[in-house]
Amino acid sequence: MKVVVLVGGVGGARFLLGVKAALGLPAVGEPEQPAGHEISAVVNVGDDVWMHGLRVCPDLDTCMYTLGDGIDSAKGWGRVDETWSVREELAAYGAEPTWFGLGDRDIATHLVRSRMLRAGYSLSEVTEALCDRWKPGVRLLPVTDDRVETHVAIEDPDEQRPRAVHFQEWWVRHRAEPAARAIVPVGAEEATPAPAALDAVARADVVLLAPSNPVVSIGTLLAVPGFRAALRETSAPVVGVSPIIGGKPLRGMADACLAAIGVDTTAEAVGRHYGSRSRDAEGILDGWLVHTGDDADVPGVDVRAVPLLMSDVDATAAMVRAAFDLAGLGEVTR
Ligand code: GDP
Ligand code: CA
Repeated sequence: MKVVVLVGGVGGARFLLGVKAALGLPAVGEPEQPAGHEISAVVNVGDDVWMHGLRVCPDLDTCMYTLGDGIDSAKGWGRVDETWSVREELAAYGAEPTWFGLGDRDIATHLVRSRMLRAGYSLSEVTEALCDRWKPGVRLLPVTDDRVETHVAIEDPDEQRPRAVHFQEWWVRHRAEPAARAIVPVGAEEATPAPAALDAVARADVVLLAPSNPVVSIGTLLAVPGFRAALRETSAPVVGVSPIIGGKPLRGMADACLAAIGVDTTAEAVGRHYGSRSRDAEGILDGWLVHTGDDADVPGVDVRAVPLLMSDVDATAAMVRAAFDLAGLGEVTR
C-alpha cells in the first residue's frame, strides 16, 4: 500500500511512528525485509530559517531524527545526548539571535545541508542525502524546493509597534504570546510543489493528514497552490486527524494560530476549515477523525470519533488503522 502523510514537526513525527507500526514495520529505522508498503511524508518547510549562516529545517529534522532514532524524546525535538558548546561560544561573542539554540550535534546536520544548498542541490536532494544516514523508513519529501517562510504580524512587545517576524521568532522567542494579527506563508503563492511530493500524492492509495498544526504546518502545505490542487485531484481518499481534543490543542499553542485565521479551536471548526473534497466544495477532506466525545458536523465529510491521544506507538497505530478504515482500506491492516 502507498500511504502519503501530510506532516509538520513533533505531532507529525509521532503520527508517522504509528503509520509504520500500523503497517507492521518497525516504528524506528528501516525494516530488514521490504514489506511492500511505501510511506511518504510531505513535510512543512514554513518553519525553515537561516540562523548564523546555516539553513535550519525544524520539521524535516524532527521527522528525520524521530524516525531514525536520534531524537531527544523527552523534548520531542533536537538530538538525544545533545551538548551546547557552540551556543555558549556564540553567546560569549554576543552573536544574535540568542533565543534560538542550536545544539552541537544538530549543527552538523545544518552544516551538511547548508553546504549542499550553496552548491546548488535542491532541498529535496539534500533531505534524501541526510536520510541516507538516518534511514527513517519513510520518504521525507519537502512540499516544495522553493523558499516558503511563515511570517507573523504582531505588535512588537519591545518596540510597541506592529512588526512582521519570522514564525520562529514569534513561537520560540515570544512563546506565541503577542496576538498574531496575521500569519502569512511568504512565498507560498509563487511556489511550485516538489515533483516527488506531487508524484507521491498522485500515486497514493490513501492520503492522511497528521494531527499537525492546521495553520503553520498543514496550512503551509495547502498554501502551495499546486499541492492543494493535487490533493483535490488524486483518486486516493484523503482522511484527516484532528489535533484539537475537547476544544484544546494537545501540546503547543495551535489555538493562537487558529485565532489568527479566525477559526475556532474545535475539531469541528478545523474540519470545516479543511472542508470537503466533493465537487461542489473547495476543500480537501473525505474523512475526518475526531476524539471520542467530540462532536463534529462537517458537510460532505465522513466524521468518526475514536481515541486520538498519541500516548504511545500502539495507541497511535490504532488511530492510523481507524483512518484506514474510514478511507475504506481497513482490510489492509487486519
Ligand atoms: P510542530 O511542527 O512541532 O509544532 O508539530 P506539528 O505541527 O506536527 O504538531 C503539533 C500539533 O500536534 C499540535 O497542534 C497538537 O494539538 C497536536 N498533537 C500533539 N499531540 C497530539 C496527540 O496526542 N493527539 C492529537 N490528536 N494531536 C496531538
Ligand atoms: Ca513546526
